[in-house]
Amino acid sequence: MGTNDKPKTRVAFVLIDGIGDVSLPRYRYRTPLQVAKIPNLDAIASAGVNGLMDPVEPGLACGSDTAHLSLLGYDPRVYYRGRGAFESMGAGLAMSPGDIAFKSNFATMDTNTGVVISRRADRHFEEEGPILCAALDGMKLSAFPEYEVRVRYATEHRCGVVVKGSNLSGNISGTDPLKDNRLLLKAEALDDTFEAKNTAAVVNELSKEISQILVSHPLNKKRAEEGKNIANVVLLRGCGIRIEVPTFEKKHGLWPCMVAPTKIIAGLGLSVGIDILEAPGATGDYRTLLTSKATAIAKALSAPLQLCPRVFVPGGDDHKPGQANGYDFGFLHVKAIDDAGHDKASLFKVRGLEAVDRAIGQLARILWEAESTGNFQYSLCVTGDHSTPVEYGDHSFEPVPFTLCRLVDYVGAVGGETVVMATPLDAFPLPKVEAGEDLKEDFEVSEDSKSKDCKAFAGDSVCEFSEIAASRGCLGRFPGSEMMGVIKKFLQLKA
Ligand SMILES: [Zn+2]
Repeated sequence: MGTNDKPKTRVAFVLIDGIGDVSLPRYRYRTPLQVAKIPNLDAIASAGVNGLMDPVEPGLACGSDTAHLSLLGYDPRVYYRGRGAFESMGAGLAMSPGDIAFKSNFATMDTNTGVVISRRADRHFEEEGPILCAALDGMKLSAFPEYEVRVRYATEHRCGVVVKGSNLSGNISGTDPLKDNRLLLKAEALDDTFEAKNTAAVVNELSKEISQILVSHPLNKKRAEEGKNIANVVLLRGCGIRIEVPTFEKKHGLWPCMVAPTKIIAGLGLSVGIDILEAPGATGDYRTLLTSKATAIAKALSAPLQLCPRVFVPGGDDHKPGQANGYDFGFLHVKAIDDAGHDKASLFKVRGLEAVDRAIGQLARILWEAESTGNFQYSLCVTGDHSTPVEYGDHSFEPVPFTLCRLVDYVGAVGGETVVMATPLDAFPLPKVEAGEDLKEDFEVSEDSKSKDCKAFAGDSVCEFSEIAASRGCLGRFPGSEMMGVIKKFLQLKA
């Protein structure tokens, strides 16, 4: 790059799924973010601008997919068509307009009564799931031979199912009873169109024929002999068609990439034209390798495109022209924190946040090395898609903290270049938390250490990253639909 060229402004966007929480009595009415030791996140907040964000709208507890659409600038009230297509595209299944897809579970049914005994045949299905999916993939429906069925393994007990053909509708109910020990449901048309009624008939036939294939599969015989639940039904829910939207690049003028081992998020990214990058070892669950994700994003924001290996491109489309120097918007998705919230695992949420903080330190170091070449000027942004308080074990409506700073200010806030460059880049596992273990003396000592002596470095007066501190930020409280506007304006101001 010539010396006359302005450095390119780029942003590393870290989305911590389920980050928001509430004040916990056992942590003396502090949130997990407030008790976690997160010096890097605190430095970002201290270095930049902060606020509280309602991912879709105030008071709405939303799903991750709905929230992500909103944050990326696509109003879910206009564009959302169910999660089935996201899940399936994320699992690597190609979808054309008019195709329908389901978010699906391998489950166990009592074939005599039709009652679904367990909606998850097995949480650890990484080896057997792909084998069963291969047995189902390409199956033909005897009553509806004109349709093509594609099945691909996703994660844990989940898979993606796509039906390809004409006269299909996404407006049908699914077969999943949503609770254990309830009857398997029949798909029903949710409107009066021929397409919806036809689709319901096709799906009921599909459900039946899937079970016939599964029941006679040798793998299920083996599971039965071992005393395990057999996977004899695939629950089909969240029927959806592929959304048709302008691409992220068209909408925002930034070339986007994403590291999201969670298939539904990757599929959502693909649906809006975001490239999904490889991050070896990152799995989207508790064993996820945060360092690998951080490295992949940092590289994508600084390296030529051919050095950024992508995973599955369902459309088969190639890199777009005019984009030789890597990506402008690097989206790093972290799932483990949401899992901790669902599991009501407060200590794991705290320790998990500390691990994410460490990975963000690694991301910042690699980006700082790239910024030192003079070719790039980076910003860091961290937020979440919804709250998953450990008290409730589910998504809830509280807004999430949002923070955005220039990398150069982060370096100042964290203690200077020597501190940044001393960050080790070796991979580390997520912390193990023993059952019954919780914060003890550790927490007593650090109880007041945060707020008292902290001072903002730049931006607004916020100097730590938490739900409470963010409420005092200069961005105030804003809806997720405005987030990309905030980020783009910040990049322009700082360019
Ligand atoms: Zn969740």
